[in-house]
Amino acid sequence: MNYQGVINRYKKYLPVTEATPIITLLEGDTPLILTKKLGPKIGEGIEVYLKYEGLNPTGSFKDRGMTLAVSKAKEKGAKAVICASTGNTSASAAAYAVCAGMKCVVLIPKGSIALGKLAQALIHGAQVVAIDGNFDDCLTLVREITDKYPIELVNSLNPYRIEGQKTASFEICDTLGDAPEYHFIPVGNAGNITAYWQGYKEYKDMGKITKLPKMCGFQAEGAAPIVRKKIVKDPQTIATAIKIGNPASWKRAEAARDESTGLIDLVSDDEIIAAYKYLAAEEGIFVEPASAASVAGLLKLNKQGFFKNAKPNTQNPIRIICVLTGHGLKDPDRAIASIAEPQVLPKDLKAVVKEIGF
Ligand SMILES: *Cc1c(COP(=O)(O)O)cnc(C)c1O
Repeated sequence: MNYQGVINRYKKYLPVTEATPIITLLEGDTPLILTKKLGPKIGEGIEVYLKYEGLNPTGSFKDRGMTLAVSKAKEKGAKAVICASTGNTSASAAAYAVCAGMKCVVLIPKGSIALGKLAQALIHGAQVVAIDGNFDDCLTLVREITDKYPIELVNSLNPYRIEGQKTASFEICDTLGDAPEYHFIPVGNAGNITAYWQGYKEYKDMGKITKLPKMCGFQAEGAAPIVRKKIVKDPQTIATAIKIGNPASWKRAEAARDESTGLIDLVSDDEIIAAYKYLAAEEGIFVEPASAASVAGLLKLNKQGFFKNAKPNTQNPIRIICVLTGHGLKDPDRAIASIAEPQVLPKDLKAVVKEIGF
């Protein structure tokens, strides 16, 4: 049968029944790309795979959770959904609400969301409300609204979001035949690290894999509450998708780190931009800045000698996953700002030929 989205593919591991209307845009089934340069750069016998979640229907992993959250909202008879968003949740909620025939309201921090994401929410007909505050303020408002009024919350506080998102670890294990050794991931509101860890644990409990990966999460330096063990009142980073000072799944992210004997560390904006450019220039993959935090984290740990004592061999390579959470086209302004703009020449053959080096 043709591919029918993550709910149909992993139905028996998800809280759905025959009565659940499946609202899908055929999300999931994203490529797991073996890097040609990044792996060898880390070391011999080390394989680095990129889980390219930017290829989901709305361009980020949020679609995996949204298909389930919106399907369950529909099953319950909800007429409207609402979320606070750094951008991708709103883009995804807006698109899935269209498919479900529901109204969608999104609260975004004024001036802090990337152009592509705003365009998506607007074109899908969501009611977009910009708040003069940050993401955490938006989430507080949304929690208060959903406590009092009949509108369904589709942030990752909604347990169905996490349930849907865990399908990404199933896909990784199904492709590799077992779990990887390491799982590198950006951390914002911390729903995704929670979801992946849950997915791996469930697959292990069911005997589908023989081991569990170490979970390695990365926050942006100016938005690193988990690393600093304290709420960041005014988070700052160019990686807007992880510009969060008080993550909703804080405790669960710590649990994923501790249970897996992994780590949560931070990367600077410079390190994020370097990894962002590296992925585009060396691996041919365009991601949004937040997504590059996983690779920035890998490069940072490698520089510190983290893999020095690793003993891979050709039979048993060490397998590392870096999750690339969102597509580069979400934030075109950042790409242009990071690279010199094209040279303008007169419409003259000689000048062009000279410029391109012939
Ligand atoms: C939402 C998002 C994140 C952060 O995920 P959390 O579940 O909030 O930790 C990272 N990157 C992108 C592109 C996102 O959209």
